Amino acid sequence: MAGEPQDDCLFCKIVAGQVPATVVRETATTFAFRDINPQAPTHVLVVPKAHHRDVAALATAAPELVGDVLREIGEIAAEEKLDSYRTVFNTGTGAGQTVFHVHAHLLGGRGLEWPPG
Ligand code: 5GP
Ligand code: ZN
Repeated sequence: MAGEPQDDCLFCKIVAGQVPATVVRETATTFAFRDINPQAPTHVLVVPKAHHRDVAALATAAPELVGDVLREIGEIAAEEKLDSYRTVFNTGTGAGQTVFHVHAHLLGGRGLEWPPG
C-alpha cells in the first residue's frame, strides 16, 4: 500500500536503519543521507520516510510531504553553506531513476552546467 514500508526497497531499509548510510538530517517525516556515489562535493539524498514511487505519486498521495522534503533541501543547503545548488527528482528509468522510493538529489559545491545530460 502507498506509504507503507516495502520489503524490497533499499531506501525503506536505509530509513529503518537496516542498511547503513551517512545520515545528514532526520525529521519526523524525512531522512537525508549522503549518496554512495557522489556526483558533486555535496550530494545528499532526501527522502520521505513513507514509501512512494516517485515525486508525482508523492504529491498525489501525501502533498504535505513534498513540502517537508523541499524544506529539508533548504536546511541542508544552508548547513552546507551552498549559495547555488541543484535539486533533481529523476522519474522513470529513462530519466535515470534506479531506486523507486522517491528521493530528491541535492547537488552542490561545484559549478553545474545547464542543460543537464
Ligand atoms: P536515482 O538514480 O534513482 O535517481 O538515484 C539513486 C541514487 O542512490 C544514486 O545516486 C545512487 O548512487 C544512490 N545509491 C544507490 N545505492 C545506495 C546505497 O546503498 N546507499 C546510498 N547512500 N546511496 C545509494
Ligand atoms: Zn521505500
